[in-house]
Parts: sequence; structure tokens; C-alpha cells
Amino acid sequence: MAKGKINVSVENIFPLIKKFLYSDHEIFLRELISNATDATLKLKHLTSIGEAKVEYGNPRIEIKVDKEGKKLHIIDQGLGMTEEEVKNYINQVAFSGAEEFLNKYEDGAKDTGIIGHFGLGFYSAFMVADTVEIITKSYKDEPAAHWSCDGSPNFTLKKGKKEDRGTEIILHIADDSTEFLEESRINELLSKYNKFMPIPIKFGMRTETLPKPEGAKEEDPAPTKEVDNIVNNPNPAWTKQPADLEDADYKGFYRELYPMQFEEPLFHIHLNVDYPFNLTGILYFPKLTQDLNVQKDRIQLYQNQVFVTDNVEGIVPEFLTMLRGVIDSPDIPLNVSRSYLQADGAVKKISSYITRKVADKLSSLFKNNREDFEAKWNDIKIVIEYGMLSEDKFFEKADKFALYPTVDGNFYTFEELQEKIKDTQTDKDDKLVILYASDKDAQHSYIEAAKTKGYEVLMMDSPIIGHLMQKLETSKEKVSFARVDADHLDNLIKKEETAISKLSDEEKEKLKAELEETITNKSYTVQLEAMDSSASPFIITEPEFMRRMKEMQQTGGGGMFGMGNMPEMYNLIVNTNHELVNEILNTKTAKKKERLINQSLDLARLSKGLLKGEELTAFIKRSYEMVK
Ligand code: ADP
Ligand code: MG
Repeated sequence: MAKGKINVSVENIFPLIKKFLYSDHEIFLRELISNATDATLKLKHLTSIGEAKVEYGNPRIEIKVDKEGKKLHIIDQGLGMTEEEVKNYINQVAFSGAEEFLNKYEDGAKDTGIIGHFGLGFYSAFMVADTVEIITKSYKDEPAAHWSCDGSPNFTLKKGKKEDRGTEIILHIADDSTEFLEESRINELLSKYNKFMPIPIKFGMRTETLPKPEGAKEEDPAPTKEVDNIVNNPNPAWTKQPADLEDADYKGFYRELYPMQFEEPLFHIHLNVDYPFNLTGILYFPKLTQDLNVQKDRIQLYQNQVFVTDNVEGIVPEFLTMLRGVIDSPDIPLNVSRSYLQADGAVKKISSYITRKVADKLSSLFKNNREDFEAKWNDIKIVIEYGMLSEDKFFEKADKFALYPTVDGNFYTFEELQEKIKDTQTDKDDKLVILYASDKDAQHSYIEAAKTKGYEVLMMDSPIIGHLMQKLETSKEKVSFARVDADHLDNLIKKEETAISKLSDEEKEKLKAELEETITNKSYTVQLEAMDSSASPFIITEPEFMRRMKEMQQTGGGGMFGMGNMPEMYNLIVNTNHELVNEILNTKTAKKKERLINQSLDLARLSKGLLKGEELTAFIKRSYEMVK
């Protein structure tokens, strides 16, 4: 048997790091600014504990583009490195000085916000540069060091000329990466990754207009001054305490996050945990449109104020991806694959924490200001309904504040609704029948009929409501939903007094046979009912089950795909107490009888919105003939 150690040759590893470590070349700048930030935060910590006896001051990081020289400079005023430290931290790939620092200072350094972790970030510079130089001077009393490497594993290290403390990284940009010598491209990267980093970042200068001196003439131009152009906000709202922020601050931060978003958010949730994991952030409920697919301003994920991604799939439960805002957690690694994230235990905990916080916030909004909650309901219901469908934990909580509006604009919780209709709306099996409409105009006559009978009609028009109703029907006892036009109300809801039929049994039989013979369309099932004489003679209803299946097929989900098209199925309710129905029965000429039946059927179809195209044209033409 032979044992040994696999020999990893640096010559081979180096190009691999350059090529495959990061899929996105542009993140090199994020990595180098993260290192500059770490160096500054380390110095801050060391001065605060008295280990570094230097003035911390107001350090900042500077980015400089030298287009002619094809160079990009990243300069910090952090703790710097001695020659020895360069050998340790830079020449050893995958040895993280950040990790070492955190271990050395343990608890005290836990909250410094240090970003580095894997000891690989620095080498991302070689994805865009042929040669990289480091000129660095430590806060310790030692000469500066000058390191240079041309992308092969060979480096040079000599004494440097730098006098002031800190580090300057110089990238000699490669020919295939000259985009990173464009000011606009650098600005783009800074605003994507570094917008909220904790140390001020200077990129170029900008002109500031000063107030005019006293006594200046109208036509005198206002004086100006060149000032450093700081591109980031080092103290974003989510890093502050909720008690220190006003509503206006939250709105202002929303604007900062999404400058192109003109609609104000409905409300926010400030996240703040430090056990069993670290997480801060602010989530916003935006006004949502019915179109669930339009979603470009998304939740952004940060690690210690460094932007990681705005693809939070797997970290935030799916129903909450419709929200906006920021989540920041040092426990979420900067560079990891999505599948890794989804399997990660910490990430799972984060997800259920966020779900809980959102439910709690909604619950307190509901309790503290119901009126306002009702006013916002239409804009937030999709998130809540989707959450109730997809997360059982959320359902339990949301069941207490989810609202069911009526067509007349009243809002009930499920419990309130149950209480309200328990004596009037039950079927023969004592099941609660919850009536609802999905379109006030199209179902107008049905809604009116239900209201005349004193029933409550809900307005349920979200795209996923069919799925939610199904969920409620299975999770609650003795509850069923029926759209107002799903069935004849007297069939749906058990009632004491029913109208007495004016027709004899033989007459009814004859009428039914004649109707079935004349109506050739087999989608209609004829049903005779003795109703009030003022009710319509013909009414079309569509069985709840069939219609809902069709709708759910359209919105997808629930394994409904591939079931093929559902057949059309309608009930034709004929009111045997109506004068017209009597006339149909007693008409002697077959032709006239047929015409009365077809015309009445078409009128019923028209009122249900089922008469279209050629049939509608023929109907109109026939009607004109009749009134002529
Ligand atoms: P990580 O940041 O994960 O520790 P990097 O490869 O990004 O790994 O950097 C390696 C180490 O080099 C850092 O941990 C740090 O000790 C040192 N270093 C890199 N950049 C700087 C800098 N600007 N100032 C001081 N030290 C630095
Ligand atoms: Mg780093």
C-alpha cells in the first residue's frame, strides 16, 4: 500500500483561480473595496482597544482611473501591511487574514463588520489585470512594501516608497478588460455593489454650488467649489436602530434603493436579530399590480453592507419575493452557489424568521389600525393569499387577519364572516355556503338576486383565489364557496319557505320534455324551479366545481396541467311561475314555441355573457325582426 500527499502545483492552480473562481469578472472591484474596507475597520478596532497607537481620523477609500496608463487604483487608509504580512497574507493563496483577525480578537471583533472570509478575494484582481501591484505601509513603524506580480506565480517584493499609512492596489488592466477603464462602467459597479458600504468611497470630484455672498447681483453666477465625490452612503437606514428612524427615513431609504420607483411603499418591516443568527434589514410592501410577473425591483441581499445578489430565491420564501428592500447577514457567504444556499441550515432559519416577522407585522397593523389595513387590503392581498397557500405556518397566523371584502365594501375576517352568515347561509348538510362574485359587472344580476334574499356576497378577484378557497374548504370544517352564478340560490342554500309551483306534475313533465327537445346544445341541463314570478324566466348557472377547475387550470399549480380542456357545463334554470314560461307551455304552434324557447335561452346566455360572435349577431338580427 502506498500513502502520500497529492501534489498541487501552483502553476496549474493559478489560471484556474483566474478563470473559474468567479463567474462574474466585474466582482473584482467589490472584492478589492471589501479588502480596503476590512483594512480600515481593522484599524478602527485596533485603535479603539488601544493596540494601534495612531490617529484613526476620517479614513476613506479612493478609486482612480488612469485611462492613458491603463491602470486602476484602489487606495485605502487602513492598517496596511508590513513586508512580513504581505508574505503571509498575499503570497499564501486561500489563507484569509480576515479570518485570522476575527479568530485572534474573538468576541471583541465580532461586530466590526469585517467582510473577508475565504482568502481568495484578492486574486480576483487577475481576472481583469495582467499585472497587479501592492504598495502598502503598515500602521506599525516599518518601511513600506512593494509587491508586484504579473499573473504567473512569480512575484517580486521590495521596499516601497509610500510615506502615509494604508494600501494602494494598482491593476494594470488587461487588453480584454478595458471596459474597466471607463468611468461610467466603474460608476455602475460602485452603485451596484458598494452603494451602502461602511467606509466613504471617493471617485473623482464634483462641483458644489455655494450660496451667493450677501449683496451679490442677480446676474452674478453662484460661486462653486470642487469637492470629493463620495459615491456611497456609509450609514444606510437598515444599520440603524428602529427607534432612531421616522417614517420619512424609511421612505427616503426606499427612494435610495429604487431611484426609479415612483410609487411609495405601503409599509415597512425592520428586521433585527442577533440570535441564533445575525440578520438586519428592511422589507417594504409595495403596491402590487395584478401581474405577478413584472418584478424588476427586487429584495437585495447584502453581507456586511456589501451587495451580494438580488436573487433571493431560496433565502426568502417565494411568496415574499414580491416584497422589496434589503436583507443583510454576515452568515450568508459572498460567493456561493444557489443550491448550496438552499440546503444551508442557517438559510432555512432565516427564511422562517422572515416569514414570522412579516406575519407579526401584518397582524399588528390589523390590530392597531384596522381601517388603514382595510384600505390597503387590495394592494397587499396577493402576497397574503399566496403566503396562506404556500406556507402553513403563515396560514395559521394570517387566518386571523386575512380579510374577505363584500361587494358592498365591508371587510370581514373569516371568523366574523362565519358568525354573520351562520344562520342564513347553510345548505342541506349544514355546511356554510359562502357566496362570492369575481366580476361585479358580469355577475350583476346574480349579485342582485342574492342580495335581495339577504345573503352576503364576497368580492373575490385575485388570480389565485380559487386555490385559496380550496385550501379553506379543506382546512376548515363545513365550509363551501360558491360563486353567485354557480347554482340556483334556492338549491344552494336551505330555506324554509319555497314558492309553490303553479304547474301540475304533468305540465312540468311536458314542459321539460319540450325544452330538452328544442334546446339542442347538450351543454345545458334543464332544471325546473318554482320561483317568485318576478324572478327571471330563464337563468343560466355554471356548477362551481367545473368552473373552478377551469380557472385553476388557467392559473396553473396543483398538478392541473395537462388535464386537457374541461367540457362546458351549464344549468338552465326555468322559473315555472313566470308568465313567459306559461306562455311557452300553452303555445299551440310548434314554430312559435321553438322561437320563444330559443329567444329566451339566448337572453339568458346574453345576461351571462355567453352569447358571442356569430350567435350574437344572429340573435340581434332576430330581435330586430321581432320588434319591427
Ligand atoms: P480575505 O479578504 O477573505 O481574507 P483576500 O484574498 O481578499 O482574503 O485577502 C487576503 C488578505 O490580504 C486579507 O485577509 C488581508 O489580510 C490582506 N489584504 C488584502 N488587501 C488588503 C488591504 N487593502 N489592506 C491590508 N491588508 C490587505
Ligand atoms: Mg477579501
